[in-house]
Amino acid sequence: MNSDSPIFQGQRKQLCERLLAEGYATEKVLQAMMRVPRHLFLESGFHQHAYLDKAFPIAAGQTISHPSTVAWQSELLQVEPGMKVLEIGTGCGYQAAVLVELGVKLFTIERQKELVDFSKRMLKTLGLRAEQKFGDGFKGMPVFAPFDRIIVTCGAPYVPKALLSQLKVGGIMIIPVGEGTQKMVRIQKNADGSFVQKVLGDAAFVPMLKDKE
Ligand code: SAH
Repeated sequence: MNSDSPIFQGQRKQLCERLLAEGYATEKVLQAMMRVPRHLFLESGFHQHAYLDKAFPIAAGQTISHPSTVAWQSELLQVEPGMKVLEIGTGCGYQAAVLVELGVKLFTIERQKELVDFSKRMLKTLGLRAEQKFGDGFKGMPVFAPFDRIIVTCGAPYVPKALLSQLKVGGIMIIPVGEGTQKMVRIQKNADGSFVQKVLGDAAFVPMLKDKE
């Protein structure tokens, strides 16, 4: 079935209430997650499990992030409506949909063509607008920089310099850094161009890979 339903809405509500109770995010973020039918981003065989706090395989050997991770990263990003946000690693487009529901102007990059095509279709079906690019997230999107916020949703071996330079003064980047497993890191840019970094906890994302050259 390719639509939302009271059963899925009920399961989604339970999941969001749990994520709120467990402190992953506050009401605003979870209300946005309530509006995004996560099951539609998955193959039909996974629909009935879509509102468990689990990651599932998507195309091109990638995964959709855990709902708790999407809630946590969205919360850490502290977005306000109208902000320019850059996402690295669109995947199936679920995190992107949540950010657009939070009212931001979203720019998102993915290096797997299949996933760019899929996520474009999904966001369009849901009536959500984003500027999508097929390309290498290590390079960011200089044409649209600077960004108020940058969210990286794949495990970065290091913090890419291009992304730091595309962050506005006062802007925040949330990025999982490390090989294998990662630490979630919050980076804020100061007026003098320096950065403040804070490690926030453990993370486990699929790796951020270099461009296929
Ligand atoms: N945001 C997604 C998470 C997808 S998993 C969600 O909502 O579930 C991470 C994605 O990052 C994968 O689709 C992978 O192909 C992509 N990725 C990995 N390295 C990348 C790079 N260098 N540039 C852009 N995307 C990249």
